Amino acid sequence: MVTLSFPSPSLSFVESGTCSKSTHVSRVLFSGPDEVHGESSEPSKILRDVHIERGVFYVTTLIIPKQESTANSCQAMNEVDVFSIQNERELYPVGWIHTHPSQGCFMSSVDLHTHYSYQVMVPEAFAIVVAPTDSSRSYGIFKLTDPGGMEILRGCSETGFHPHKEPEDGNPVYEQCSNVYKNSNLRFEIFDLR
Ligand SMILES: [Zn+2]
Ligand SMILES: [Zn+2]
Repeated sequence: MVTLSFPSPSLSFVESGTCSKSTHVSRVLFSGPDEVHGESSEPSKILRDVHIERGVFYVTTLIIPKQESTANSCQAMNEVDVFSIQNERELYPVGWIHTHPSQGCFMSSVDLHTHYSYQVMVPEAFAIVVAPTDSSRSYGIFKLTDPGGMEILRGCSETGFHPHKEPEDGNPVYEQCSNVYKNSNLRFEIFDLR
C-alpha cells in the first residue's frame, strides 16, 4: 500500500530559516479520517493561517484542493484556485494535512518531498498525518529536521517511493513537531474546491 499526496509543490522558492514560532490548530482537525467531509479516500488539504501577534500562528483556514483520488493516493488539481484564495485573503501557507486511511502514521518519501516544498517556503510549516487505523497513534504532526532532513530532500531528485539516507548530523530525516498545539477554541474556515 502506498500513499501519494501532492497538494502544492509549486510553493517552493525561499531559503529555509529556523523553526521557532508556535502554531495553534483547531482540535476538530484531528478528530477522524475525514469528519469534516466524509470521504473514504485520502484527501489532502492545505492549512493556511494568518500571522497574529507575539510570534504565534493560528490556523484559520482549511483549503481542500480539487483533486483526483484513489483508495491510496491523491493528486491536487487547479492549484491556481488555491493560490487565489490565499492571495485574496493574505494567508500564509503553514502546512498540510492528509489521511492514511489504512496505513500507519508516518511520512512516506513522497510525503517528505511534498512537505519539503512547504517547509522551504515557510520554515514553521508542518504536516499532519491522520491515521485512524494506527493503534499506536491516530495522528502525527511532522516536519523535516533542519538542516539535516532539509538537505537530504533538497539534494534528492528521485520521485515515487524511494528510501532516503540518514542525515550526516545523526538526526532523523523528519521529526515530530513540539510547537504545534491543539486548541479547542479555535474555529477555522473551510474552502472546499472539490
Ligand atoms: Zn502520506
Ligand atoms: Zn527523495
